[in-house]
Amino acid sequence: NRPPRLHRDFMMTRACSLQNAPIRVMQWNILAQALGEGKDGFVRCPMEALNWSERKYLILEEILTYRPDVLCLQEVDHYFDTFQPVLASLGYQSSFCPKPCSPCLEVHNNNGPDGCALFFNRRRFQLLHTSHLRLSAMLLKTNQVAIVATLRCRFTGRVFCVAVTHLKARSGWEVFRSAQGAHLLQQLYGIPLVVCGDFNAEPSEEVYRRFMTSPLGLDSAYKCLSEDGNTEPPYTTWKIRPSGESCSTLDYIWYSERAFQVDAVLKIPSEEQIGPDRLPSYHYPSDHLSLVCDLRFN
Ligand code: NDP
Ligand code: CA
Repeated sequence: NRPPRLHRDFMMTRACSLQNAPIRVMQWNILAQALGEGKDGFVRCPMEALNWSERKYLILEEILTYRPDVLCLQEVDHYFDTFQPVLASLGYQSSFCPKPCSPCLEVHNNNGPDGCALFFNRRRFQLLHTSHLRLSAMLLKTNQVAIVATLRCRFTGRVFCVAVTHLKARSGWEVFRSAQGAHLLQQLYGIPLVVCGDFNAEPSEEVYRRFMTSPLGLDSAYKCLSEDGNTEPPYTTWKIRPSGESCSTLDYIWYSERAFQVDAVLKIPSEEQIGPDRLPSYHYPSDHLSLVCDLRFN
């Protein structure tokens, strides 16, 4: 018997009007199936909770609960056999960029490389341009990628650019992440922007500062959840490995401050909701929480 799904409310940051409906954006590192089963070592998560045959429905349920207009995923290693066809049948157009040397490929019976994927509501948006970037750091090619897409709203004609990325993991790589972030920022134009990612960086890191202070005028949507409006949530991922417990804020939705206002953000589940064994679990299919916000054009 599976426990009920985590109940999460939206915090409304502004009153809504029917015209100029906000764009709902979801950012989520869904946990690559091969990494979850073969590499991560989530010692407090029963292996049965990671069975793909069931876990895929929990991931899809989370996505369909919030029905984002723009969906940015990391660690996707079931794009062609699951997410692309299922989400296409639900009205999403999409693009997938695998990591050049995905660690999934080292896992026995893997399903191919993991990578970033971008989905958008094709009834609402027309794709003007997509590019797949291999991020560099100090002029060297790295194993991290990004997708940058330019979308045009079919109803209002407004154009914006959305990017999804997953920066290098682990401590000791802070300078590397910052360089990857700098490369991504260089590729982004001065049009309204949404940048979603698992940055693998706490807000105290240089790459966070780089995004916060870039000339593109970006702000982080989840700061709206805090009382002072200026603090990131206490965690976006929480897991237990043999090396210990890791509870940190690594995932972000950046948006152009001049172009958008944040109408709502999906609250972060409490420690009690997450439970003593942390994530992933029978309740929740990834070690990272989904971030969802409603962005409205100014
Ligand atoms: P990263 O260091 O960015 O991490 C890769 C994945 O491992 C991420 O999805 C990350 O998840 C997860 N991860 C982070 N911390 C841990 C941990 N403590 N234990 C287990 N998993 C963790 O990897 P790179 O993409 O830079 O690639 C490096 C890895 O790729 C090497 O470890 C090696 O195994 C492999 N590799 C494979 C090659 C090949 O030919 N196939 C060549 C070179 C490297 P999250 O972002 O959620 O933290
Ligand atoms: Ca991971």
